[in-house]
Amino acid sequence: MVTFDDIASAAQQIAGVAHRTTVATSRLLDAACGNRMFLKCENLQRAGAFKFRGAYNAVSRLSEAERAAGVITHSSGNHAQALALVCQLLGVRATIVMPQNAPPQKLAATRDYGAEVVLYDPATATREAISRDLAEEHGYVLIPPYDHPHIIAGQGTAAMELVADAGPLDYLFVPCGGGGLLSGSAIAAKHLAPGCKVIGVEPAAGDDATRSFKTGFLHTVRNPDTIADGARTPSLGQLTFPLVRQHVDDMLAVSDDDLIRTMQFVWTRLKLIVEPTGVLGLAAVFNRRYPVEGQRVGVILSGGNADVAMAGQWFR
Ligand SMILES: *Cc1c(COP(=O)(O)O)cnc(C)c1O
Repeated sequence: MVTFDDIASAAQQIAGVAHRTTVATSRLLDAACGNRMFLKCENLQRAGAFKFRGAYNAVSRLSEAERAAGVITHSSGNHAQALALVCQLLGVRATIVMPQNAPPQKLAATRDYGAEVVLYDPATATREAISRDLAEEHGYVLIPPYDHPHIIAGQGTAAMELVADAGPLDYLFVPCGGGGLLSGSAIAAKHLAPGCKVIGVEPAAGDDATRSFKTGFLHTVRNPDTIADGARTPSLGQLTFPLVRQHVDDMLAVSDDDLIRTMQFVWTRLKLIVEPTGVLGLAAVFNRRYPVEGQRVGVILSGGNADVAMAGQWFR
């Protein structure tokens, strides 16, 4: 169970450590989307994504004994970097289990923050099993990327700030991988602006959460082929699935082409570097994949850790 009180408490816990990121607006974007748009710039958050919020909320609440044992996680990138930075700030040893095919600059950034990186082959092993085994062997505390109450509450603080800064919203579009950001955002937005409709967006190649949301049964997907590497998660979690079902109004999936068109607009016209996963929410509105017109629309731009070497392939 995660409530708005947990999110308000997380906001106090991270105050002065996480950035209160800006809310960007643009007439040009409003015209392109046919709505009044408010972008919560978590691409400008510490370590380049909202994940710093949940990671700091979780690790800073550990007991002295738990901190002394060290923490471990599995992540394809942004949670890893966030946890590594948080552990550096708090003086806690971090071990990160990452897939061999994770973007190279994400591997490098994680190591630069002082974490120990353990690589695995996603074709032959599951990261959950590897991190569980290492945690048992060494006594590390497992801090999962989304299915944890302190992570979910921390992620909800971004939407809390967005509603406070942008004023009443009719819609909030949120990227979805394992559903930590989406559940936290929905709990925060629904509490602060009950009329606000919260819409989750994921990549078409991995539309398991949309199918789970619509059917009520947990669907899974294996290594989905999408440029949205932050949303290649196998399924919603045990905590996030019921929270998404309870608090989210609708879900949809968008194509990689939609993500690229949206990213190109955001990079070139708004001068903001965002990563493919980071524009999932905006892509739904920008490419008119969801019927919303003339409304006040909030969007979480969830991350900016783009592999810039890929830009030549993405953009034309
Ligand atoms: C992790 C991540 C997501 C998805 O968050 P979940 O809590 O797993 O749903 C979206 N965007 C970016 C940039 C991320 O790093």
